[in-house]
Amino acid sequence: MAQLINGKEIAARLRGEIAAETAVLKEKGITPGLAVILVGDDPASQTYVRNKQKACQEVGFYSEQINLPATTTQEELLAVVKELNERKDIHGILCQLPLPKGLDDGAVIAAIDPKKDVDAFHAENVGHIMIGDQHFLPCTPAGVMELIHRSGITVEGRHCVVIGRSNIVGKPMAMLLLQKNGTVTICHSRTKDLAAICRQADILVAAVGRAKFVTADMVKEGATVIDVGINRDENGKLCGDVDFAAVEPIVGAITPVPGGVGPMTIAMLMKNTLTAAKTYGC
Ligand code: NDP
Repeated sequence: MAQLINGKEIAARLRGEIAAETAVLKEKGITPGLAVILVGDDPASQTYVRNKQKACQEVGFYSEQINLPATTTQEELLAVVKELNERKDIHGILCQLPLPKGLDDGAVIAAIDPKKDVDAFHAENVGHIMIGDQHFLPCTPAGVMELIHRSGITVEGRHCVVIGRSNIVGKPMAMLLLQKNGTVTICHSRTKDLAAICRQADILVAAVGRAKFVTADMVKEGATVIDVGINRDENGKLCGDVDFAAVEPIVGAITPVPGGVGPMTIAMLMKNTLTAAKTYGC
């Protein structure tokens, strides 16, 4: 039976560590502050934002939610970002993506002060991740690295295969694995012989966005499988990119969905906000 990598438990431990550090920082007069901008009324975005607020409360941060109507103009949104950039009590800013039609995600990311860009989406922070001297870690990939590390799995010298090359998951994921001396292959929709490449993976990270995409014939015996996907199956039940029931008996370690990567993403967001407050808060 595979080792089950329990993201819920590891994330709770991480939040506990962040809460302890926050208490020390508060004694020095700095309370980490996170502002979350939500434009429109997409139910999934509302849930994500609620979970972020909840995590802020748990670790002792100040948090502020700015709700804007879907009719908000680009100029109005950029003005909100500018004001938050200037506030001393706000150390982290994030704008919940995707934005409603007519608003430009890229322009908003570019407008956030890189020192407050706790999602690590700004080109300046992406550049730092590429160089390997980042302040802010990309939340989901960093959460995956933390799961791997805290489960006692070695990356160095291992063949790591990442399925997906998005800017928020696939590409930064590959960079972090490379920083830990993994030998990394990035796969995408134009990759040929995907199953054969995946079967070579010691560590397989699936970030595709397709329910049960990774099947038993795509994994090597004893491999570590990390499932980033959040999908609904044919019955509307939450599931990942990996066919868990078929893959679990073959592999050495695996993350479940839910309860794997998901909780880690928010914990890493808290960690970035704490880093921002420690580094730039005064
Ligand atoms: P994107 O849609 O931006 O990227 C998906 C990637 O998968 C693309 O690079 C695409 O290739 C690749 N892909 C699609 N179909 C295939 C295929 N048939 N074969 C090989 N590769 C394929 O998604 P994200 O990276 O944003 O997210 C991926 C998943 O992770 C989603 O389910 C999302 O909900 C989840 N997610 C989970 C988070 C968490 O906290 N757990 C956080 C963020 C995302 P190409 O580039 O060629 O199109």
